[in-house]
Amino acid sequence: MTRQEQTFVMVKPDGVSRGLIGPIITRFEQKGFKLAAIELLHIDRALAEQHYGDLKAKPFFGELVDYLTSGPVCAMIWQGEHAVENARALIGKTNPVEASPGTIRGDFAMDIAGNIVHGSDSPASAAREIGLFFGRHAAPHSFDLLGVNPIDHG
Ligand code: UDP
Ligand code: MG
Repeated sequence: MTRQEQTFVMVKPDGVSRGLIGPIITRFEQKGFKLAAIELLHIDRALAEQHYGDLKAKPFFGELVDYLTSGPVCAMIWQGEHAVENARALIGKTNPVEASPGTIRGDFAMDIAGNIVHGSDSPASAAREIGLFFGRHAAPHSFDLLGVNPIDHG
């Protein structure tokens, strides 16, 4: 049995408003990921600031929080082998100018301040972010596909 892992992925507000939830989900499914949780929500500044807590000192932090709270986001947990690294590869580099064609940012985004999607950068970040968005005090509806599987993914 290969080592399964979960990662946190979020379609940011510009990705949602541009109708890119579907194409992004398609890419994750085509790659072989399994969807473990999904929720559309409009996050408040406190959650955005917590999510990007490690960037608090950056000059773009205020604009980043404005961006993330400007409309609904689509929060997801995707599962699979090396899920964190595979998701980062699928998403592409932070700056869409540098993101290769074929990656999500490379194909759908132009500007670093509107790069349409987030993916956790390590298993520890994934656990923290999944807790923030799908923990007991957030949305309770995530499936642990590592244990009993309540949906049949074939
Ligand atoms: N960001 C930005 N300007 C920058 C660097 C980052 O607006 O110079 C934003 C961008 O939306 C990015 C997010 O801050 O996705 C988080 O930055 P990070 O370095 O964690 O990049 P990521 O993990 O999203 O690739
Ligand atoms: Mg990051």
